[in-house]
Amino acid sequence: MKASTGIRVIKLWAEQALCATGWAQGVTVTVDGTRISAVETGTQPQPGDTRLGTLLPAPANLHSHAFQRAMAGMTERRGPNAHDSFWTWRQLMYQFMDQLTPDDVQAITAFVQMEMLEAGYGASVEFHYLHHAPGGVVYDALGEMSQRVVAAAQESGIGLTLLPVLYQVGGCDKRALGPGQIRFGNDPERYAKLLDAAQSALRALPEDAVLGVAPHSLRAVTPEGLLACVDLRPDAPIHIHLAEQMAEVEETVAAWGQRPVQRLMDQVDVDQRWCLIHLTQMERAETLALAATGAVAGLCPITESSLGDGIFDGVAWTGAKGRFGIGSDSNVRISLTEELRTLDYSQRLRDRVRAALATPELSTGRALFEGAALGGAQAAGRGKGMIAPGELADLVALDMGGVDLEGRAGDCVLDAWIFAGDDRAVSEVWSGGRHVVSGGVHRNRDSIEAGYRLVMKRLQAL
Ligand code: ZN
Repeated sequence: MKASTGIRVIKLWAEQALCATGWAQGVTVTVDGTRISAVETGTQPQPGDTRLGTLLPAPANLHSHAFQRAMAGMTERRGPNAHDSFWTWRQLMYQFMDQLTPDDVQAITAFVQMEMLEAGYGASVEFHYLHHAPGGVVYDALGEMSQRVVAAAQESGIGLTLLPVLYQVGGCDKRALGPGQIRFGNDPERYAKLLDAAQSALRALPEDAVLGVAPHSLRAVTPEGLLACVDLRPDAPIHIHLAEQMAEVEETVAAWGQRPVQRLMDQVDVDQRWCLIHLTQMERAETLALAATGAVAGLCPITESSLGDGIFDGVAWTGAKGRFGIGSDSNVRISLTEELRTLDYSQRLRDRVRAALATPELSTGRALFEGAALGGAQAAGRGKGMIAPGELADLVALDMGGVDLEGRAGDCVLDAWIFAGDDRAVSEVWSGGRHVVSGGVHRNRDSIEAGYRLVMKRLQAL
């Protein structure tokens, strides 16, 4: 995955930075191309340095279906069913998705990636399952839609981890795909070719781009398909939706006599390669067993709230040293601070406590933010998620001039930003060393936003 970006060395100087060893004052970070080459503390700013307030590792957004951004706000009316649910929402999503062309997907994806960067995310993991034309017709190029996600990343400059998704069947009983699902479908043989096509497409991006694999869910792949995914790219990140909905739990129990977590752990060796998306329907023993594997829990608190999925047991998970990261999933709202706040508030509401995910050493904001940076990088295949030599330069700087951050330092900056402030405090963002957000605004905002508005107008007119 190579493309010449013209190696350039830049020096950033921050009043304070969250480094691998904790907070440091007067920090000079040298960025050489896509990576950090040096970190010095206790320094004074030099002429030519970019001067910053608080510098942080920018977490990867570890789960996105970019196209769903365009239906945000369109699913809040009650349908004819007694209960609107994830499953009624999914029907609407399928209908909406059938209108989308490759041009639409590219424009929407670029817009989503831009919003992620402006929110302070440093990279995006696209869980990409919209592969084919309406009716399931394969495009002239099998990897057409993967190319469009890559083209969007060229516009936005975001560090991309592309996860082409294997979607084979309509349920655990291996029923055929429904009409809303045939644009996703591949057998393992064609999926292998699609992965090759996606890998070729990623060569257009800088060297920090990553290819991973994603069996969609236990209900959408066969046991053989799951194993094929594991073997096709043995060292790449592997993501799967797991234990999101009660109906999914009931379906796996009916099919195999096992709940989803138990089923997955019996089928494959779950380890640090894995990122398990949602985990909102787990029993305590499942939480503890899965946390011990070193896999990342891919949490999407805003979407999980929106869809009524349930509440992840973050207290037990982090108590067992489980790793986690944040994804914006349906992209109904893209906000890093709100995801983290929602995660902790969900625990507080359930347990009737405060500061649920704080530890004796770390404040709530620090535990949330640092956890998401470390787990997000692991899940995205982007190293350690720290400000340290050799790591990718995924960095976010906060404007300390805002009212909420006045006079704050150390963990209090993160607490005030996440619980009292919002993403408007984001000033500068670098993704793989690319300076994509400046003064809170993405470098290509005008053109990317114009492209998105055109798509929205066309879709509204249909
Ligand atoms: Zn998802």
